[in-house]
Amino acid sequence: MRTPYGAECKHYYADFNRGRNTQECRLPRSASGKWTPDLCKACPIPRIQLANACPHLVLNGRIERGFLGLTRRMSMAATCSKASGPVAEPAIGCGHCHEDSPALQFSLE
Ligand code: SF4
Repeated sequence: MRTPYGAECKHYYADFNRGRNTQECRLPRSASGKWTPDLCKACPIPRIQLANACPHLVLNGRIERGFLGLTRRMSMAATCSKASGPVAEPAIGCGHCHEDSPALQFSLE
């Protein structure tokens, strides 16, 4: 679904039908404050989803406070469910799936 800032995000949910006024971020998050739609503006998740469609990539969000606690922003941590480890560059991925790729094994032989 498209966020209020125009990015496509699979964790965003909104329902304005028949008088409803529901907006939610369904990204799993650690308890770090109340989510509001303005956090979508600078959120890195839509860009990562666009760059990396790996089914093993697991993203967890966290709402962080900025300078003097005046600003808030969404940050995230990425892990690989296949390699069971952190992913340093979630937009690229950890690369463990490529080790099993038949096309890559053929080219190495
Ligand atoms: S805060 Fe980020 S993950 Fe959550 S709905 Fe907005 S863009 Fe998506």
